[in-house]
Amino acid sequence: MDMDFRTYDTRDSKEKGVTLPTPNNKLRILIFLQHHETLDDIYATITHELIHYCLMKYRMVDIDDYQEHDLIHTMQWIDEYI
Ligand SMILES: [Zn+2]
Repeated sequence: MDMDFRTYDTRDSKEKGVTLPTPNNKLRILIFLQHHETLDDIYATITHELIHYCLMKYRMVDIDDYQEHDLIHTMQWIDEYI
């Protein structure tokens, strides 16, 4: 797995991070630092993208993008739920 931290974003996007497939069937994660306000925000994005990575790599569940984001949100806040 490759994870790159960018200080710029050439796309017209405010995404904090993205997990992308590569042509050689690997995955890479891009974290766009300029779209964060705190270190904790960056850590949350890293966790968010790592969960995407695991779900994409191991195809453990058959869920759509909205369900995947609901799952990630719940996982990120699980300490507050219990
Ligand atoms: Zn996401």
